[in-house]
Amino acid sequence: MAGFKTHLTGGVVSGAGISALGLVSYNFNMLQASSIFILGVVGGILPDLDSDSGKPLALIFGILSVLIPTLLLPRITDSKIISPEFLVCYFVGGYLIINYLICGLIKKLTIHRGIMHSIPFAILSGEAGYLLFISSSQNMAEMVGLSVFAGCMGHLILDELNSISFKFGLIPVWKRSSGTAFKITSGNLFATLFVYCLVFGAAAMIFLAS
Ligand SMILES: [Zn+2]
Repeated sequence: MAGFKTHLTGGVVSGAGISALGLVSYNFNMLQASSIFILGVVGGILPDLDSDSGKPLALIFGILSVLIPTLLLPRITDSKIISPEFLVCYFVGGYLIINYLICGLIKKLTIHRGIMHSIPFAILSGEAGYLLFISSSQNMAEMVGLSVFAGCMGHLILDELNSISFKFGLIPVWKRSSGTAFKITSGNLFATLFVYCLVFGAAAMIFLAS
């Protein structure tokens, strides 16, 4: 697989590209463009949530443990009940649940280069980005969704490119890992069906929210 730095660079490039597109197409301000960029970078490393070890995984979960509770905050409560005691319990609770409970579950339930390295997972990640930003504006939600999706797709493509080596610097040779990233199903039927159900469920939510 391509290394963490390669994926980070891929996420930075695609995030910056989509962010620039938002600036030009929708006249976004710098705050909006920066959010699109950051979520594009997150998308670029997201499929490696299924790798069981290393600093990159800890970094991804650390970021998601802060980002997800923050983005969900306006949806689960109104500003009247937000107090320091609520914020302490909410953010510490959210961090612990995502960083330890959900991280542990994902480590247990996924295998590297399983369903998280697939096109439907990239679509699902893009849909999640859209839904988390729908309260901002439809244009913003579209560009965040696109940025996360592009970051994930870039990750899958980089992994596939890394599966090709060149004999004598000329003849392409496909490694055993070839075809395990840019795919539409995993070897596990249950995991595949589960992700497709989530893709269609999220699509229905997007349709209803638009
Ligand atoms: Zn990967």
